Amino acid sequence: MGKMDFESLFKESAKIHGHLCPGQVLGVRMSMLGLKKIGIKDPRGDDKKNLIVFVEIDRCATDAVQSVTGCSLGKRTLKFMDYGKMAATFVNLKTSRAVRIVAREDSRDKAKEYFPEIADKYEAQLEAYKIMTDKELFDVMEVSINIKKENLSGKPSGRVKCDKCNEYVQVADPILRERRGVKKGEKILCRPCASGGYYNVKKL
Ligand SMILES: [Zn+2]
Ligand SMILES: [Zn+2]
Repeated sequence: MGKMDFESLFKESAKIHGHLCPGQVLGVRMSMLGLKKIGIKDPRGDDKKNLIVFVEIDRCATDAVQSVTGCSLGKRTLKFMDYGKMAATFVNLKTSRAVRIVAREDSRDKAKEYFPEIADKYEAQLEAYKIMTDKELFDVMEVSINIKKENLSGKPSGRVKCDKCNEYVQVADPILRERRGVKKGEKILCRPCASGGYYNVKKL
């Protein structure tokens, strides 16, 4: 079992992430709080099958959430919801307890008040986020998840072929089903073929 104290988790996540930043402090503290609220003590050991985390932003703090919780996209225990919010939801699959934690916007200004002598605002945030209370940093809400818990993890089981590009799409994950497989009349289309993707194939 890994150490669950702030300093070791922070060191570890900064190493994985590649630099020290306020996002690492926020992400580590957010994860520690979330895990505590849902009663998960050993996320990377005994409890690893009981935990799923939804992250709502792809920023520095997300790496810290991944590092502390051990959840990852590849293990299908980390779900990325592209909302652009500094927030994450921690779900205990055993008890169905779920809390969503949102970083408070006013914590940025409060950080300056904690360390007025530090000119660099990121440095002030980094230091302040270590000592500010959970209440100053986060809003916490109990939530329920709109997905059946037995469907949250496990192996994807279904693949369909897109009628337009002929590429295969895994559709079994109910979170992703709507985003991935689209029925248009008689045809089944992948999402980029149905509504445009991030890439266009160049004609040679
Ligand atoms: Zn960073
Ligand atoms: Zn397609």
